[in-house]
Amino acid sequence: MGARVIDGKAVAAEVRAEVARGVEEFGAEHGRPPGLATVLVGEDPASQLYIGSKRRLSEEVGIRSVHHGLGADVSPQELLELVDGLGTDEAVDGILVQLPLPDGHDQDAVIARIDPAKDVDGLTATSAGLLAQGRPGLVPCTPRGVMELLRAAGARIEGAEAAIVGRSILVGRPLANLLVGADATVTMCHSRTHELAAVLRRADILVVAAGSPRLVTAEMVKPGAIVIDVGTNRTGDGLVGDVDFEPVAEVAGAITPVPGGVGPMTIAMLLSNTLAAARARASALQSASK
Ligand code: NAP
Repeated sequence: MGARVIDGKAVAAEVRAEVARGVEEFGAEHGRPPGLATVLVGEDPASQLYIGSKRRLSEEVGIRSVHHGLGADVSPQELLELVDGLGTDEAVDGILVQLPLPDGHDQDAVIARIDPAKDVDGLTATSAGLLAQGRPGLVPCTPRGVMELLRAAGARIEGAEAAIVGRSILVGRPLANLLVGADATVTMCHSRTHELAAVLRRADILVVAAGSPRLVTAEMVKPGAIVIDVGTNRTGDGLVGDVDFEPVAEVAGAITPVPGGVGPMTIAMLLSNTLAAARARASALQSASK
């Protein structure tokens, strides 16, 4: 194997340690810990697992975690009222509604009700708009995690050709804005892209977030490229990414594994966003009271 394997677990542990120090400082200054409210509707086992990890790791760094588990039969109106209530709760700095929501709920309407100041998933139109304009704001966790991994891998982003496979509001689109903001030349690919292999072969930085097991093969990768695999696919062979790991690792310069690559970074960035939201809210409150 030629490529260096980028250790997402180790980078995520460093981020969490830094967040823990920031949380301690915040508590000393403001007399309370940052608070993260999680909302889960229904009993999807994968979502329960994700929420469990988010809560456990929040508490490990000193963030106060408050969970709202709602039955799948909760009405859309009740869910919206809960989100509104969390928006006005002074002890809550971050609101995370676990997606996808069960049928019968309008995901866009729920996201639109999240107070942008507490939008630690970075999914509201306000957060997306600020990012698109290159202005400061809360950035979706997975793309932020990808940028941290690129930095940890020593990637030269400025001037690089970057290709992203996937254009979701959760990963591909915000990541394109982050990479453009870091001065890369970005191509965003999707299911209608012609000649995907030829486009990807130009990329110095290749990020794959398609949800299609082993979509990217060695022939599609430029020798020496940095490859970040966001894909998380449960298959008969266990958890696999969107990149055909072993053959691609023969060609790439650096590569993330699945699991142990992007996954741990997503939660670490959620904690970092919660601290950032707490700091921004506290400083806005201080300015308002002057
Ligand atoms: P999504 O909303 O389903 O979007 C998938 C994107 O990939 C779409 O833009 C789609 O194109 C494109 N695509 C799918 N198949 C393709 C193909 N064969 N060729 C080219 N483009 C293709 O998915 P998502 O929410 O962004 O998630 C993507 C993957 O990342 C999933 O496996 C998900 O589980 C994983 N994920 C992991 C983390 C983590 O923390 N590790 C976080 C978020 C997501 P169209 O737009 O044309 O349909």
